Amino acid sequence: MKKYKANIQGMTCKGCERHVVSALENIGAKNIEVSFRRGEAIFELSDGVGVENAKIAIDETNYQPGEIKKIPSEENVVLYNEEGYDLLIIGSGSAAFSAAIKSTEYGAKVGMIEREIVGGTCVNIGCVPSKTLLRAGEINHSAKENLFTGLQTSAGEVNLASLVNQKDDLVNELRKQKYIDLIDEYDIDLIKGEAKFVDENIVEVNGEKFSANRFLIATGASPSLPPISGLEVVDYLTSTTLLELKKVPKQLTIIGSGYIGMELGQLFHNLGSEVTLMQRSERLLKKYDPEISETVEKVLIEQGINIVKGVTFERVEQVGELKKVHIAVDGKKKVVDSEHLLVATGSKPNTDSLNLSAAGVEVGKGKEILINDYARTSNEKVYAAGDVTLGPQFVYVAAYEGGIVADNAIGGLNKKIDLSVVPGVTFTNPSIATVGLTEEQAKEKGYEVKTSVLPLDAVPRAIVNRETTGVFKLVADAKTLKVLGVHIVSENAGDGIYAATLAVKFGLTVDDLKDTLAPYLTMAEGLKLAALTFDKDVSKLSCCAG
Ligand SMILES: Cc1cc2nc3c(=O)[nH]c(=O)nc-3n(C[C@H](O)[C@H](O)[C@H](O)COP(=O)(O)OP(=O)(O)OC[C@H]3O[C@@H](n4cnc5c(N)ncnc54)[C@H](O)[C@@H]3O)c2cc1C
Repeated sequence: MKKYKANIQGMTCKGCERHVVSALENIGAKNIEVSFRRGEAIFELSDGVGVENAKIAIDETNYQPGEIKKIPSEENVVLYNEEGYDLLIIGSGSAAFSAAIKSTEYGAKVGMIEREIVGGTCVNIGCVPSKTLLRAGEINHSAKENLFTGLQTSAGEVNLASLVNQKDDLVNELRKQKYIDLIDEYDIDLIKGEAKFVDENIVEVNGEKFSANRFLIATGASPSLPPISGLEVVDYLTSTTLLELKKVPKQLTIIGSGYIGMELGQLFHNLGSEVTLMQRSERLLKKYDPEISETVEKVLIEQGINIVKGVTFERVEQVGELKKVHIAVDGKKKVVDSEHLLVATGSKPNTDSLNLSAAGVEVGKGKEILINDYARTSNEKVYAAGDVTLGPQFVYVAAYEGGIVADNAIGGLNKKIDLSVVPGVTFTNPSIATVGLTEEQAKEKGYEVKTSVLPLDAVPRAIVNRETTGVFKLVADAKTLKVLGVHIVSENAGDGIYAATLAVKFGLTVDDLKDTLAPYLTMAEGLKLAALTFDKDVSKLSCCAG
């Protein structure tokens, strides 16, 4: 049998799909899958049946068959290990599901092992729960700090238990829709328990052994603890347990001010806690452009969040319910007391329990799994994707890498991972979004750099919103004017960064941005205004940058 994909125009509903299925069945096609949404049919034909018969059969249904392609590199597809799986995946997060779905589309038999809750970090304890609560926090903040005259808004005491229940309902719903239901939909075998390698070909779960042609390690990462004396006996919180609190704490101290510390700090500030963010480094967001760090620091301080930088953590202790953090700043000792202490100092890969040496899989200094450009580990049958490799820790990176694993491990392709342009967003308010090179990185790479910095008070959307603390910064190659990096602090910066990502990825120039219409009164217009700022004072322009 050979497998084909046909493009079909004109299907509009499930009924259309049924017509195409029956037409293909009539010519002896097998394993037929038709999707009117994607406008395609995937099917298998035995060697004696020519693909032109399929074209005629589809044509006779009155839909319009387009190109019919043999599914690429079918001969290379690594399929059907008689006794075991074609692909056995450890983990059930975003990298795992993306690899599993694509592999089943190649016709592979896929097993997936999960030791905790199906769906992994993003839906259960990461993106979804944090972003829905952040939204609630923002609404509470706006109610307290309404910027418009003539409106009466007020915010009462926050019922965190109720918010957390509502958040849990959403998590359960999305986990079901986006993960659990897909297990049956794509015919994936779910194996519950903790996986460890026995040898290069076998993984053991609860004493049962499973073999496979290929393996994917997609076990993610967990919060890591800094080496601060006393932490092991203090009742501290992680991002997971903080999102389960039922009462807003009076004070919340946060060790670490990366994106998780900042988002969760602002969330609890908006819900009514007194929040202190503490970090070792002298500069907030030290890897970002200085304009971004300074703006974010200014806005967080204006909002009432305490920021302590350049901290040496001496020890922590618990006295009754109170957590005491003993620190030194500029040689001066201090104790910061709070009801709750959040530790948000990064993450460590989940590799300890996997017995990787039995499979000959090498790890790096931080115990992350080392992979090559094709997502393959030091054992060519074993692949890894997502947070466990300690690459950029975003769910879309994990899912992208999982897809590459399916293409390479099952599809027989040789696709390289390309993480040269990865947008990143911190969902504070204002939010922070960046893509491409910072000014410093561009200079280190040898570019002659030209930059433009546009304060947010020059962006009409920010003016009408009455929230003008923020900035747009463009970094361009001075010779070609190609956009190398875009860095934004504004409301909904994450929505604007997608256009910037396209600009950086596809080598658009500052002139391309200037010459492209930007809808007036969107925050994304700031991108065009920042481009115009290279040679104009945009405060002297009329509306719509005209
Ligand atoms: C608070 C927070 C907020 C975040 N917000 C965002 C955001 O807004 N946007 C964004 O893009 N990213 C966000 N992230 C990051 C994002 O959630 C992760 O990058 C992504 O979920 C990683 O996916 P993964 O598939 O690599 O691993 P995971 O989703 O972590 O899945 C790994 C799974 O493997 C299982 N496992 C581990 N070891 C074993 C074993 N030995 N046997 C069986 N199973 C095992 C684990 O139980 C887990 O379910 C956030 C993360 C956190 C913590």
